[in-house]
Amino acid sequence: MAAPQNIRNCLDGEGAVLEAILCTHKHWDHSGGNKALKKLYRSCRVYGNACDDIPELTHPLSDREQLAVGRLQFQAFFTPGHTVGHMIYVLDGKSGDGPDCLFSGDLLFLAGCGRMFEGSADTMLASLDKVASLSDNTLLWPGHEYAADNLMFAAVVEPDNGVRDKKYQWVFQQRQDKKCTCPSTLGEEKEYNPFLRTHCRDLHLALDLQRGAEEEWSHFRSRVLEEVRRRKDLFKGR
Ligand SMILES: [Zn+2]
Repeated sequence: MAAPQNIRNCLDGEGAVLEAILCTHKHWDHSGGNKALKKLYRSCRVYGNACDDIPELTHPLSDREQLAVGRLQFQAFFTPGHTVGHMIYVLDGKSGDGPDCLFSGDLLFLAGCGRMFEGSADTMLASLDKVASLSDNTLLWPGHEYAADNLMFAAVVEPDNGVRDKKYQWVFQQRQDKKCTCPSTLGEEKEYNPFLRTHCRDLHLALDLQRGAEEEWSHFRSRVLEEVRRRKDLFKGR
């Protein structure tokens, strides 16, 4: 979304005009093109959450609000943690004759999650749990291509995961061929993405974390998430 000219070229090629921008959050690489695009397409709507300082925001959204772009139906979910006003968007597949699609911005990547710049582990966990509650068949379209790095890190925190090994081999080949690794499905992600696996015993063992005798389950899972994120921050700066 920070490359307005590319978007314009693409739309021109399709003979289309820009009707709406579904902005996930304020960071420049996700919202930096809003101003230029709004200049080119004056009636274009800009969706997002008002807690984030999104350029040209015209339609502030709250959690679970529905919106339509042409015949396509979306639902927005409020998912703070990476930023205070981060939103994700789920396309209802039935409205477009395809599968459900999640546009996750910097909340969730293939085998990874965004850094917790503006939220606690509790907040991020609640946002990730919203993702985990979506259907396993939902396609994941994240904001960045970080799959190879993320899967390498996942191998460190959960060494004995055959599904992850297989995915990594496929991702490695895709990247060798200069191809994209997205989309995956949320069902797949739940099998290898450590940030969606804070409930898994294998991960607790690998991190050497134990639930306290009186500790709430959600509190323990927050601690697990915090530790996975801390190790990922040290592993690579993403
Ligand atoms: Zn970001």
